[in-house]
Amino acid sequence: MVAAPVILWFGLDLRLADNPALTAATARGTGLVPVFILDDEDAGPWRAGSASRWWLHGSLESLSRSLAERGAQLIFRNGRAEAVLDELLAETGADAVYWNRRYEPWAVARNSRIKRALRSRNVEARSFNASLLREPGTIMNGTGEPYRVFAAFWKRLRNEHRAESPLPAPKAVSASATEVRSERLADWKLRPSAPDWSDGLRAAWTPGEQAAQRRLRQFASGAAAAYREQRDRPGIDGTSRLAAHLHFGEIGPRQIWWEVTEQAMRDIGIPVSPGIETFLSEVAWREFSYHLLFHFPALPEAPLRAEFKRFPWKRNAKGLAAWQRGLTGFPIVDAGMRQLWKTGWMHNRVRMIVASFLVKDLLIDWRVGEKWFWDTLVDADLASNAASWQWVAGSGADAAPFFRVFNPGLQGSKFDPHGVYVRHWVPEIARLPDSLIHTPWKATAIELEAAGISLGCTYPTPVVDHALARERALDAFQAIKSRTSP
Ligand code: FAD
Repeated sequence: MVAAPVILWFGLDLRLADNPALTAATARGTGLVPVFILDDEDAGPWRAGSASRWWLHGSLESLSRSLAERGAQLIFRNGRAEAVLDELLAETGADAVYWNRRYEPWAVARNSRIKRALRSRNVEARSFNASLLREPGTIMNGTGEPYRVFAAFWKRLRNEHRAESPLPAPKAVSASATEVRSERLADWKLRPSAPDWSDGLRAAWTPGEQAAQRRLRQFASGAAAAYREQRDRPGIDGTSRLAAHLHFGEIGPRQIWWEVTEQAMRDIGIPVSPGIETFLSEVAWREFSYHLLFHFPALPEAPLRAEFKRFPWKRNAKGLAAWQRGLTGFPIVDAGMRQLWKTGWMHNRVRMIVASFLVKDLLIDWRVGEKWFWDTLVDADLASNAASWQWVAGSGADAAPFFRVFNPGLQGSKFDPHGVYVRHWVPEIARLPDSLIHTPWKATAIELEAAGISLGCTYPTPVVDHALARERALDAFQAIKSRTSP
């Protein structure tokens, strides 16, 4: 008699190496039914955005190829996961479902429901951790509460985490004997067609596990060494650009930790350089965001600090459109928003600047910016995006104080001192000298003419006066603060 197969349900773990659910399913020695379910219904408002969908298509193609090379076919199904898994159990006679855990509130609720239902019918249901160094609930403070301050969280994680050798990818995957119907990935239309706006994405990225591994190795043997000094400079390719690979689980943090610490050992014989130490702490920000999302599931929708529920956000359609299109008249903001639109990615320093500008200069609700990022970032991630927006808005757990308002001109001069980044993304002002590249409104008529700029015509005049906008933001903040004071 042929042993009943196991369904391997892929989610945000689109890889074969260091994939504990796959390793366990393969070890079972029965046939495997690997499936990816596009469940937009359960995800609701947090279904993948446009740029993420583009990435997902490429990632699934890559995973499907890797499985085929090992003898198994990835099944594509669209619909509510509960119903699809029931159909597959009936069609294949499988007696087990294995998967790696997810942490978005909607996925936690859905997957717990599924696990209970399967077990009540004597179907073996097992889940594993593939995407975090430490799962929520395993790092709590002295009083058993979740950490709200990153520094304390990081100190604990750094002290306790030991690099582990990642699980190897299985050499072969034994497919189930039953032929299983699959939908066609192309029919899901994850990639844009009319119009196809994805040229910039295609030029910038290669989704998939092999590309993720290449990028990690390239970073570990290159930019990682100077990461601490260069990570804040948007004009330099000084960061790993691994965020989307990490989001889709094409690579996991355990593999990253192992590679960068081992690489350092191999190269210079000491465990970790300052550059790598800083890089690991950034990877830990991702972990911290996941812990926050798990313990405060309203994080994407509601401010963690109660007083911000009354913040007098403004509706400002003109300001919002200028921000989205990169036409605010503030070069560093415009460069960032154009980089995002064109490539689906923006440098972290510039994300902070454009977010501060939306929230504090334009007084637009952070959730509006969060949604825009959700749709346009290839690395859009519910935990990191929500935690970061709340950090910038000042409404989060460990947040930048609201009264610290980024000055876009000064931020530009400090982090892009020679205007390399701005000149690339805002070429219409490229001929301004370094001293004016971040503040074209300060240029004289002669200087503008020499640079071929007609302010208000070839490049916008600033949509706000930053000094006045800052005062307005501080007044609004004072108002919500004084209403909560005794
Ligand atoms: P690196 O500098 O190479 O960092 C390595 C990895 O650490 C990243 O790939 C990422 O997984 C993690 N990381 C780094 N910084 C942070 C951070 N501040 N918070 C959480 N994780 C971090 N990151 C996302 O992955 N998805 C998002 O949707 C997202 N939205 C953001 C929104 C705002 C307003 C801001 C200010 C930041 C946001 N970030 C988000 C965090 C950060 O900007 C990106 O992770 C980083 O720019 C990705 O580039 P990288 O892979 O080269 O990062």
